[in-house]
Amino acid sequence: MLRLTCRLLGTMIASCACVTAWAGASARLEVDAREAPRGIERVHLVLPVKSGKLTLLYPKWLPGEHSPDGPIAGLSGLKFSSNGQSIAWQRDPDNMYAFHLDVPAAVRTLDVAFEVDAVRGATDNNAERTSTDSLALILWNQLVLYPAGAQSDDLRYQARLRLPPGWSFGTALASPQTTGDTTQFAEVSLTTLIDSPVLSGSNFRTIALGGDPAVYLHLAADSEAALDIPEASTAQLRKLVQEAAALFGATHYTEYHFLWTLSDQIGFEGIEHHQSSDNRSGERSLIDEELRRSASVLTLLPHEYVHSWNGKYRRPIGLATGNYDAPMRGDLLWVYEGLTEYLGMVLSARSGFASLEDARNEWADIAAWLQNSKGREWRPLADTAAAAQLGYIEAAGWRARTRSTDFYAESAMLWLEADTLIRTTTHGAKSLDDFCRLFYGPPSSAPKVLPYDFNDVVKALNAVMPYDWRGFWTQRLNRVRSDAPLEGLTASGWHLVFTAEPTAVEKGEAALMKKTDLSDSLGFLLKDEGAVISTVVPGTPADSAGIAPDSILIAIDDRKYSKDVLADALKAGGTELRGIRLLIEKDDKFKTVELKYAGHERHPRLERDASAPDLLTTILSPRS
Ligand SMILES: [Zn+2]
Repeated sequence: MLRLTCRLLGTMIASCACVTAWAGASARLEVDAREAPRGIERVHLVLPVKSGKLTLLYPKWLPGEHSPDGPIAGLSGLKFSSNGQSIAWQRDPDNMYAFHLDVPAAVRTLDVAFEVDAVRGATDNNAERTSTDSLALILWNQLVLYPAGAQSDDLRYQARLRLPPGWSFGTALASPQTTGDTTQFAEVSLTTLIDSPVLSGSNFRTIALGGDPAVYLHLAADSEAALDIPEASTAQLRKLVQEAAALFGATHYTEYHFLWTLSDQIGFEGIEHHQSSDNRSGERSLIDEELRRSASVLTLLPHEYVHSWNGKYRRPIGLATGNYDAPMRGDLLWVYEGLTEYLGMVLSARSGFASLEDARNEWADIAAWLQNSKGREWRPLADTAAAAQLGYIEAAGWRARTRSTDFYAESAMLWLEADTLIRTTTHGAKSLDDFCRLFYGPPSSAPKVLPYDFNDVVKALNAVMPYDWRGFWTQRLNRVRSDAPLEGLTASGWHLVFTAEPTAVEKGEAALMKKTDLSDSLGFLLKDEGAVISTVVPGTPADSAGIAPDSILIAIDDRKYSKDVLADALKAGGTELRGIRLLIEKDDKFKTVELKYAGHERHPRLERDASAPDLLTTILSPRS
């Protein structure tokens, strides 16, 4: 019933549309992805219609992306017809995702043809190419239209997919029937279709990870060699499935499929789905131990897996919209993403995929980032969640000033504080694990959505341990202050220190992202394996010297820039304040700036604080 309520809210804005034109029948979707490697996917859609006015929509607000970023600018070649007769269409003057047409009398099925033209690294509603010569991620949200006014649960689609010859695939879509290079999937709701991407490729491997219901890992890579996942990693991912079951005590999927794209040609990210997740990281993430230990890889699968419970099954009411046209509200993303960030790191450690030391180093990175994130001085955490759709596109160069998507990292730190508070107050009898079981756990079910609001979160926390949880969160979400909220870290028995050597987690992240991170010393980050300054941190020597993002570092103390020259310049000094001269190129002009700096490189790690019990190790230790 709750879902019905939020659906109604979501559809009040829909236009005149004729949902009844669709009743009972299902749509047939044929996707030809044989040219996916160069960024073209062709669609033939057969829709059941009735005569009269019809408005069709292209998905705009995508679940998991919390943004109106459906890649409408990549849609091309749109044609409508029936019985071979073309039908004219008009785009809505206000809504770029809506197409109006008049369906002629006696017409019962409408043929829609279009293609998606994707390019590498696209932004701003263009379609990003999620394919290479060796693999393709098929994202159904890019390949459908649906009638305005309808709820995605009520629309039925039967999809057929044609892949390049010899390619294999993995997906959560049920009952695939493959003949030659074409696969027919069982008819599902539009919700399920869009929630079930397909990973395909010529270098492909599927591994069963156990679990009840069963969990599978599908790997597609740009090389055969990249599929050679070590047995230890596979065992840790099996353990991840067990640890999630021990944490939540129930599942809300009928099968679960990790889709893992291993490619340096596609942007790294993870998108959650109910019965699968779309995970993308570097080609050698699994076979290069340095890359595997990067923060991004260590938590990628655990984070997206947690979303099956936190985000898909339990969903903030403002994100539980009934179709892809209704705007989403991100105000509870500190639960949806913040607690997922926390539990992702916890499960990564409990599964052994991250060693205890690596897990601690991840917490050190987060703590250091929070100290650098000065946007807290003007903007409360709650505002980062409310404005999530902006946060995802805020420029990286000034991220420490804008604080962009702090509802991930800062909320994770606050959930650590909540966990330590429960553990300390109840003398270890209760923990955040109890909240997880209560809020996300039994009974097990097939995929469904149970929306919640702030009151539901407060109520469940109170059921675990009576406390002023409303006050706890209201204060932390709405305060404006400069200090990073590291109270939870302190309560867990650890504190942040800096040493001259980066940790394995930081080294891995630098290698994966091809960056050099001097955020905690000189105050900038270099990107793309080169000398382009991508981020400047407020209050650091680089900031005081007036350096801007996108400047190019040419020379250090009169020597041409290289990673080694930069490292040597930092190694050379003692604790005395000294000047480090940088030759900078900006806007085609050269200038020399002097950075006042004392000491060596500074890289975050955690140090044990014996005055408090070591709760962090307890939290990160396996349960099953
Ligand atoms: Zn997430």
